[in-house]
Amino acid sequence: MTETIQAHAFRPRDLVGGHVVIDLLNTVTARNADPVDRLDGYPRLLEWAALTEHFDPDALVALERLAEADPAGAARALDRTRELREDLHDLVTALVRQDDPAPAEAVRRVERRWKHAAAGAHLTVRENTAELQIDVATSGLDYLGHRLVLEAFDLLRSLPPERTRVCPGVRCGWVFIDSSRGGRRRWCDMATCGNSAKGRTHYQRKRQSTALVKPE
Ligand SMILES: [Zn+2]
Repeated sequence: MTETIQAHAFRPRDLVGGHVVIDLLNTVTARNADPVDRLDGYPRLLEWAALTEHFDPDALVALERLAEADPAGAARALDRTRELREDLHDLVTALVRQDDPAPAEAVRRVERRWKHAAAGAHLTVRENTAELQIDVATSGLDYLGHRLVLEAFDLLRSLPPERTRVCPGVRCGWVFIDSSRGGRRRWCDMATCGNSAKGRTHYQRKRQSTALVKPE
């Protein structure tokens, strides 16, 4: 991966994808310019995971301890998560563009990671719901990667291409699922990309209208 890695304190507004796996894709920003990877270390991945409120807090504490005891192992697990993220980004955007066939290398690598994750998972059926459960004891530092690749498989099967968009904002390129009623959401976030676009249009209009006023 060639993009710049930059420290970033994750905030709730970084989670606008509509699915935890899509939020993972958006830990790289400015994909439509010079991509910036905001996962600058395993602790950052844990910080992001905690913010999503999608993972068991006890598991995150256990991972923090594992990472402290084995920083090199944590760095390798982060690299695997980053690679997974990029492959999933290729697959999700291929589905949105309805590219057929999808990028074969990414398909093959995601399949391999899915098999690896599934090999350590337990099938549980509770309250009429079947799940492949992953735990830190089996998956170790790859717990988050394993959870995410299993959920990615569900996402890829059910992704609504007509409702999945790539934000056209300046230095953005975030992916999001539009679950608004009208289905006309264009920006990842109206408060950021939407507003700056509105600001630019306003500025351009103002300039144009000023230009139209002929000097007396
Ligand atoms: Zn955006």
